[in-house]
Amino acid sequence: MTQEFPPFLPFVRPEIDEETIQGVADVLRSGWITTGPQNEAFEKALSTFCGGRPVRTFNSGTATLEVGLRIAGVQPGDEVITTPASWVATANVILEVGATPVFVDIDPRTRNIDLGLLEKAITPRTKAIIPVYLAGLPLDMDRLYEIARAYKLRVIEDAAQALGSTWRGERIGKLGDIVSFSFHPNKNVTSIEGGALVVNDEREAELARKYRLQGITRKGFDGMDCDLLGGKYNLTDVAARVGLGQLAQIDRFTAKRRALARVYFERFGKGAARELGVGLPLADFENSNWHMFQITLPLERLSLDRAGFMQKMHETYRIGTGVHYPAIHLFTLYRARGFAPGMFPHAERFGASTLTLPLFTQMTDGDVARVVDAVDEICEHYGK
Ligand SMILES: *Cc1c(COP(=O)(O)O)cnc(C)c1O
Repeated sequence: MTQEFPPFLPFVRPEIDEETIQGVADVLRSGWITTGPQNEAFEKALSTFCGGRPVRTFNSGTATLEVGLRIAGVQPGDEVITTPASWVATANVILEVGATPVFVDIDPRTRNIDLGLLEKAITPRTKAIIPVYLAGLPLDMDRLYEIARAYKLRVIEDAAQALGSTWRGERIGKLGDIVSFSFHPNKNVTSIEGGALVVNDEREAELARKYRLQGITRKGFDGMDCDLLGGKYNLTDVAARVGLGQLAQIDRFTAKRRALARVYFERFGKGAARELGVGLPLADFENSNWHMFQITLPLERLSLDRAGFMQKMHETYRIGTGVHYPAIHLFTLYRARGFAPGMFPHAERFGASTLTLPLFTQMTDGDVARVVDAVDEICEHYGK
């Protein structure tokens, strides 16, 4: 007997419309496929989105963070404060520029860096902070910048997940110091791979441009100089065309994600998962762009581990899930630098128990119901 399986539901899937696909074909036929007019248009659209601030595109949201640190003047010997609950790139870039990462634990409610613990981590060597807006939930931006101003610290916002998020009605990227976005396919807006750096003035924009491509400046037909050590981080025009098509739809994307998140809360309102102690994210429907919907599993009350839970979701229910993220300081590279279990208990607990459920713009309310039913059934079956 053959069993009818429902179609596989991934945890994320980009939505690229036909107009964008056609636009990419036009770029490919145009004769200019790397950084050029599409990037210029993408930078302009992003700048408008960020209230007119200067923006430079990059080939990743990792390159933007690294260059952001360089523009802020972070050097070997400097300390940079960040959260252990992020994609490892957030901390890796600190090592990349030769500085020292200093972690501060998260607030388990927001899953973002605990601003109440921030000041205790500041030393005379602290040069900058990299706050992360996990799942698109911003920090208390007033408090963050109050502290940054008081201690004269630069802020490089890792807003990789927060395009479309707001604080007091203003978009993330419009406020603040240096702001970094990513356009990886899992993010709310994609350019396949890519990133954008929002800076403060034309001097910083010029530095961003140089760091992006070998530190080169050209003048006239035959003038070239290189006056700083730059990388190779420019975005192709094919990618920028995808990003342009995506950015045009961001309000609809954000609205759809918020609506789906609301359905998750309704569906999780009752049932075996909640009874067993499955944790839900902070229900922020004002500021967050709902980049992800992440629950925490009550592992001490389940007779299967997270991998087993994910396998059940995948194989029995045909639903994809993800882990975002294991605590950075527990990775081998960071343990070798002296970090150890127990140092940041909230980030460790979150990293060990979090599970990202499907959330993307082409999902239906019925898909959300299917996911919550599956989580409920597994909790019912394996709860103890
Ligand atoms: C995606 C992401 C990055 C890195 O972006 P890439 O474009 O993949 O290099 C950095 N920080 C966070 C929090 C991210 O989610």
